[in-house]
Amino acid sequence: MSTHEHDRSPHDRGPRDRGPRDLSPHSRAATFTCVRCGLTLNEAAPDGARRDHCPSCLHSRHLTDHVDGGPSDCGGRMVPISVAVPRGGDWRVIHRCVRCDELTSTPIRGDDNQLVLMRLAVRPLAQPPFPLEAFGDL
Ligand SMILES: [Zn+2]
Ligand SMILES: [Zn+2]
Repeated sequence: MSTHEHDRSPHDRGPRDRGPRDLSPHSRAATFTCVRCGLTLNEAAPDGARRDHCPSCLHSRHLTDHVDGGPSDCGGRMVPISVAVPRGGDWRVIHRCVRCDELTSTPIRGDDNQLVLMRLAVRPLAQPPFPLEAFGDL
């Protein structure tokens, strides 16, 4: 049994690895786990806004009652089904709850997966309900 601790750890990296910031309730970052891809996500998005959907797969969870404004006890998975662009506004993701079918729209965040966003945006054009050739004759 040998004790050569002092030549292995010049810096004290013991169990007391807590910064003083932990004591402040304001810096306590809440996290949640994505219901689809299992990523652990910080509730605070890089732009300072509160994140409500996964930036990787854009799925969300039905935790807010968007009709009454309070918390929802549904907890169902919310699937991104489309994007909407209000006049003069930023893109919003339309989610639908797989349990109760409630529709919500939330603003996209700076680190949202752009490929998934584009896929949602072009989906109606990729599957038109009528032949697009008619527009070629105009
Ligand atoms: Zn995800
Ligand atoms: Zn729901």
